[in-house]
Amino acid sequence: MRIEEEKKLDYDSVLIRPKRSELGSRKEVDLYREFSFRNAKSDANGPQYHGVPIMASNMDGVGTFEIAEALSEHGLFTCLIKSYDESDLCEFFHVDAVKHREHVAYSMGIAQHDYDKFKSVYNTEKVKLKYICVDVANGYSERFSEFIKRLRDECPDVVIIAGNVVTGEMTEELILSGADIVKVGIGPGSVCTTRIQTGVGFPQVSAVIECADAAHGLGGHVIADGGCTNPGDVSKAFAAGADFVMLGGMFAGHDEGGGEVISRYYKNGEVYKTESGWEDVIEQRKFVQFYGMSSKAANEKHFGGLKEYRSSEGREILVPYRGEILHTVQDLLGGIRSTCTYAGAKKLKWLSKCTTFVKTDQQFNTVFANQG
Ligand code: 5GP
Repeated sequence: MRIEEEKKLDYDSVLIRPKRSELGSRKEVDLYREFSFRNAKSDANGPQYHGVPIMASNMDGVGTFEIAEALSEHGLFTCLIKSYDESDLCEFFHVDAVKHREHVAYSMGIAQHDYDKFKSVYNTEKVKLKYICVDVANGYSERFSEFIKRLRDECPDVVIIAGNVVTGEMTEELILSGADIVKVGIGPGSVCTTRIQTGVGFPQVSAVIECADAAHGLGGHVIADGGCTNPGDVSKAFAAGADFVMLGGMFAGHDEGGGEVISRYYKNGEVYKTESGWEDVIEQRKFVQFYGMSSKAANEKHFGGLKEYRSSEGREILVPYRGEILHTVQDLLGGIRSTCTYAGAKKLKWLSKCTTFVKTDQQFNTVFANQG
């Protein structure tokens, strides 16, 4: 047994130090980024990717076709859920599809049936898959790297996203196996219970710093996946060196996610007077179900139940219903633009270089946290 003595950092252990800035307004901040990928072959000259590098996670209620369409309009990216059937995927990714599908990834696991379905969609005439997200809970298995190598050989033109890992050496291994973008995060997610069930994990800001350093050294890219609870955390992920940031919980609860809206009624503590006396004020609040993709709920929905040799590593919760995703996107992008003005970064691209993190034990003042 060995102990690493250096204390690793999470989103709530750092803040970004403000710096003198020449930026007059948030409007001047450019959140678009351009990337060329290390391994995917591209015919076009110039960058393969141009967009706002924030991604919706391939989770139920988040990685839907409708979210992909809504986010695409604002330059954001979506990794689709794995459970869409072949014909719907072929229709969605058809070259004649009305909507723009530039910023959408096909997601898959590494089981034989995942591979067969992918190959069938990939080989369908007039279907164009630009990005594939190969997503497993534990990206450390040899079988996973082998799978990435095979995909790279068979599909030289697709941009491969692979994960999840949290250390530099495995990031390098996946990039050398053919991945273009490595997804970073084990255990930080909002509905993840991996750290509780297994004791395994790595503080997310340090994981991003270390994996980004390893990936960038090889010309690869990284996604900070999981653990962001507010726009400030998304900014911290970019500041730590993430090329993309992936969100599950922050994009849950919206109309486009397709979840059922559930009403609950609460006494809000106030009363009102009626002819027959005082009555409690009952308030209606709306929620949407949200669950981890390794939770019991997800296993029941997609695999007919949890296999007896597995334990659930995800939670099932209700998140407040939040209407259209556009409002959340505007709030999020406004926050990141503001971070860039504080840090003196005219482009999101420069945020990491402009950042000095300060370690802290307190993130914000909680005295009125339950109000407003
Ligand atoms: P969030 O943005 O909600 O904090 O985290 C989203 C990420 O959590 C996803 O992109 C995925 O990597 C991870 N995740 C989703 N479902 C589960 C689960 O059931 N278990 C675990 N361990 N991680 C999950």
